[in-house]
This record gives sequence, C-alpha cells and structure tokens, in this order.
Amino acid sequence: MEFTVITGASSGIGYEAALAFSAKGKNLILVARRMDKLEELKEKILFEDNTLNIVLKSSDLSDRGQVYELYEDLKSYNIETWINNAGLGDSGLIINEDLLKIESMLRVNIDAVTILSTLFAKEYADKENTQLINVSSAMGYILALGNTIYSATKYYVSVYTEGLAKELQGHRLKAKVLAPAITETEFIAKANNLDSFDYSTGVKQYHTAKEMAQFLIKLYESDHIVGIVNEKNEFVLNDGIHPILQGL
Ligand code: NAP
Repeated sequence: MEFTVITGASSGIGYEAALAFSAKGKNLILVARRMDKLEELKEKILFEDNTLNIVLKSSDLSDRGQVYELYEDLKSYNIETWINNAGLGDSGLIINEDLLKIESMLRVNIDAVTILSTLFAKEYADKENTQLINVSSAMGYILALGNTIYSATKYYVSVYTEGLAKELQGHRLKAKVLAPAITETEFIAKANNLDSFDYSTGVKQYHTAKEMAQFLIKLYESDHIVGIVNEKNEFVLNDGIHPILQGL
C-alpha cells in the first residue's frame, strides 16, 4: 500500500491538498501539531471514501528531534509522494522582528524541509513513480520587502528543491516546487499576529486554498519542476527559474 505524506495538513493549503489527493484515491499520512483538526479532516475524508487508509501524526516541526522522529516513524510505510507544506511567515521590517518567531520560522521553513527532503531523497532516489513536492512561495522568487526573512526562507526552499530536481536527473524520484502567491488560509493572520484576516477586503487578488490544491495536483500530474503563481495571478508550470552554475 502506498501513501502520500502531507505536512501542515491541519489548515489551509495542506488541508485542501489532503482532500484533493484523497479524491484521487490516495492513502494519506497527515502531519501537524493540532491533532483535533487532523481528526476532523480524517473523518471528512473517510465519509467520502471509507476504503482509504488515513494515518495521523502529531509533530512539532520546529523541534529538530521531532523532525527526525517523524521520519523514523514513517520508515515502515511505502511512500509515493512526500509534500513538505508546513510553514509560517512573519511580516515586518527586520529591525522590528521577534527573534523567537523568526527562529521557529527558520526551523520549520528551512531545517525541517531540508532534513525531511534529504532523508526522503536518499531513500527513494531510485524508486519508480515517487515525488517530493516542497511548498515555497512566489516570494521565493521575488524579494518581498517587509517580509524579507520569510522571503529568504522561501528562496532557500526554491533553490534547494530546484537544485535537487536537477541533481536527480537520471534517478526515478522527481523533486518539484509549488510557489503560491496570496492564498486564503490562516497564513496572513498568523504572520501578522491577528485573530483573523479578511482576504476579500484586505488584498487585491488571491486564490482560495481549494484552488491552490488543484494547482498542486496539476504540478503533481505534470513533468515540470516548478508550479508558480505569476504576477498576473495565473498558475504556470516551468522547468526551473533560479539561474544555475554547473558545479562538480
Ligand atoms: P496555514 O493555514 O497557516 O497552514 C500552515 C500549516 O503548517 C498548518 O497546518 C500548521 O499546522 C503547519 N505548521 C506550522 N507550524 C508548524 C510546526 N511547528 N510543526 C508542524 N506543523 C506546523 O498556512 P498555508 O497558507 O496553508 O501555508 C502552507 C504553506 O504555503 C506554507 O509553507 C506557506 O509558507 C506557503 N505559502 C502560503 C501562502 C499564502 O498566502 N497562504 C503564499 C505562499 C506560500 P499546526 O499549526 O496544526 O501545527
């Protein structure tokens, strides 16, 4: 039995991605800290299709020990696709940043993504029909002032994943980047320490998390490396954006 792993499945893009992959008949391993939200999601998925196998894992990905434990814990499963979606932002000028929140962002957005991707790539590089999809951001391709540190974490995710995708040529595993622009989730409220945020009045254009999950499915079903929302708010697929210097 094969599984799709989705981190950050308790809300937003990860939650809708779980529904979209389950609608395609995929067994899922769903990861987040809020188990109550994951339980609710599992119930919803099984209501639609009770033949699926849905495994829930509680993990705080800002804790390096828990990141390694999570991977170890999942070693007994046969994984087809691993989606590193969990992430957080923090809005504000660098001189005003809350360093504790920044540390947590670096650990989730960079450390956990690197550790989980690298372990998965080492183990699955030559396994047929496998994919690793890392969720970056349009801000991983354009420096967003006022969100500089978040933008830098997503540059990291994009460069790491595009580089891995190129290094894996000749292997079976495909590495891909999803780069959403503004998407209606809990993200902006949390990044700005607000109780809630109204996307319909607060931003000019955005996608719903359901739409973003369908873009993720398009990327998954394609042979392309990057799926990005461009400046016209359109989702486009391509084979890499960051310039490459051939090393080694
Ligand atoms: P969201 O609704 O806030 O969801 C974030 C998810 O990440 C939640 O499921 C959360 O689960 C999980 N997460 C956060 N910290 C975690 C931790 N320490 N350990 C484990 N899980 C953790 O935001 P979203 O918009 O769906 O974000 C998903 C991805 O899209 C992120 O990587 C984000 O950077 C990226 N993105 C979002 C936008 C946007 O406008 N929304 C745009 C571009 C890129 P728990 O809190 O339950 O742990």
